[in-house]
Amino acid sequence: MADQPRRLLEGLDPEQRTAVTAPRGPVCVLAGAGTGKTRTITHRIAHLVERGLVAPQQVLAVTFTARAAGQMRTRLRELGAGGVQAQTFHAAAFRQLRYFWPRVHDTGVWSLVDNKYRFVMNAANRLGLSTEKDSVRDLAGEIEWAKSSLIAPDRYPSAAAKAGRSAPTAPESVSKVFAAYEQLKTRAEALDFDDLLLHTAAILEEHPEVAEEFRSRYRSFVVDEYQDVNPLQQRVLDAWLGPRDDLTVVGDANQTIYSFAGAAPQWLIGFPRRFPEATVVRLERDYRSTPQVVALANQVIDAARERPAGTRLTLVGQRQDGPKPDFAEFDDEVSEAQAVAHKIAALARDGTPLSEIAVLFRVNAQSEVYEKALADAEIPYQVRGGERFFARTEVRRAMAALRTAGSRDDLTSGDLCGSVRAVLAEVGLTDEPPAGGAAREHWESLIALVELAEELVAAVPDADLAHYNAELDARAESQHPPTVEGVTLASLHAAKGLEWDAVFLVGLVDGTLPIQYADGDDAAIEEERRLLYVGVTRAREFLRLSWALSRGEGGKRFRRRSRFVYALVPDDSPAALPARVQQREASPMRSQGGAVTPRCRTCETKLLGTLEIKLGRCGHCPSDVDEGLLAELKAWRSDRAQQLRVPSYVVF
Ligand code: ATP
Ligand code: MG
Repeated sequence: MADQPRRLLEGLDPEQRTAVTAPRGPVCVLAGAGTGKTRTITHRIAHLVERGLVAPQQVLAVTFTARAAGQMRTRLRELGAGGVQAQTFHAAAFRQLRYFWPRVHDTGVWSLVDNKYRFVMNAANRLGLSTEKDSVRDLAGEIEWAKSSLIAPDRYPSAAAKAGRSAPTAPESVSKVFAAYEQLKTRAEALDFDDLLLHTAAILEEHPEVAEEFRSRYRSFVVDEYQDVNPLQQRVLDAWLGPRDDLTVVGDANQTIYSFAGAAPQWLIGFPRRFPEATVVRLERDYRSTPQVVALANQVIDAARERPAGTRLTLVGQRQDGPKPDFAEFDDEVSEAQAVAHKIAALARDGTPLSEIAVLFRVNAQSEVYEKALADAEIPYQVRGGERFFARTEVRRAMAALRTAGSRDDLTSGDLCGSVRAVLAEVGLTDEPPAGGAAREHWESLIALVELAEELVAAVPDADLAHYNAELDARAESQHPPTVEGVTLASLHAAKGLEWDAVFLVGLVDGTLPIQYADGDDAAIEEERRLLYVGVTRAREFLRLSWALSRGEGGKRFRRRSRFVYALVPDDSPAALPARVQQREASPMRSQGGAVTPRCRTCETKLLGTLEIKLGRCGHCPSDVDEGLLAELKAWRSDRAQQLRVPSYVVF
């Protein structure tokens, strides 16, 4: 026993140890990517449990994705602290609602809406608004933002104006759709994800006896990725805590990537002010990535226009040297994807496990061309973060069958994996994998469900079908598919907190990263830059950044490399542009009559006007120049864009 606390402190640096061994009470770790924040909180929980300061079941740890929660549970078990609840906010809230709801509402908890868009569409339809897919998605996004920001339907127009939201639908109409959506949903006795949090907070706030019972059960709270907490999640956290302060938070303001959905790093940054007695720790050593990757990450984030106070940390790489990050330019997206598949095959041949390789992109739609290229090269992969897994017909059918099977006598007792296999055999699972094509894909999905049962039994030996179905529901809620061995395809958002030996950041073109609708909005552009930072910092060793100059195969050249990439490509890279080509490519403006065109020292775009030329910087890039001059420059640039009648990204 005496050795155990020491073991928990081994492999931690002095600052990490300070956070791990701090007494119960407020603790805040503010640090960059890969510095061991998640490791620190996991060890802290195990340490508190080990010292008998808290029982495992009294700890509630919230993470951002179900996968991160699963990893934390596994790690905690290994460290001797099994039984700690590590979950996403939604999963934790849903679990609590199942228990508390019947106590205050005299009914069972309402069911989750299975298709939020349908409710939004019906609401829009009632009001005579467009029910086109894109409009409905935009409306759903606005409703989600409002609910996460604790904004009621009638307050939407003023709040949206204040927050600078630019939804294509008129704010008054969004407000009406929002109200109608809430009405339809309530009438159907259904809850959306945000309702899970809203009801949890409301029950705890309005029913002191329930709150008291809850707070006698959970005593210590831990939040990972705290920079991305939104007002609704913060309200739930406050309701959980009540007047207590046993809260550990960790985060990196430079990784705030959900502000479009209402998240704000202000709670992370303001934590030491809210809890003046808090133990505050800053970490700078990067244990994840090679110094080459760390240097690139520093370069990306140093270019940020503004960084919140206290977040100006420079990462210091701790690992041995590795290969330099690679940059590659392609004529079209298909060639780019094929080259990725080709390189993955080579990495795998050299011993990198496929599960240690990820292809990361800005939007889920980019996944398809990579899915095809990998399938053609017969490389197994899994898509993360999209609805895909749980939207698949075979998965939906399997889940329905498993749910019905829950009441069958022949299956409900003992040995879970056998039951799952038996039910899945009834919906088409064969012993041997089919040769290929769609049948093979269906088989892979079903096998993933069997493997999930195996995983669950390893964690909870007496798990039964009811347990299993609850786990599946929780994963479906958070859209976290079970693990399939293979290359990971994921959006940058879904990649947060994770790491792989080899990472491909693909599709780095202007309009995709930064995404087109961020144009003209400085804050949105900065969020896009942070997404690139998140992407770069996922790589342990191998990192390739690539882009293609046209969409599809053999398409017309109409895209240009991301503005974030220009300054990163070293001169000796094959992707470095020869000076003459730079003049053509780096700026959509043609150079005039062969004269040397002055270019921005940071991003290489052509400089326009005497002020820019004098400064040697374009208005988009951060610089050490006087704020006033920059403001002048920005105003000039936007006038210029209007005069030229071009989208602002052409000028910026
Ligand atoms: P992110 O911001 O991306 O979430 P993080 O700060 O949470 O990153 P971790 O995921 O906890 O970082 O750690 C990054 C990697 O470094 C992990 O592989 C972890 O095991 C390793 N690591 C962390 N601390 C140490 C340490 N003191 N010694 C060796 N390895 C460490
Ligand atoms: Mg982490």
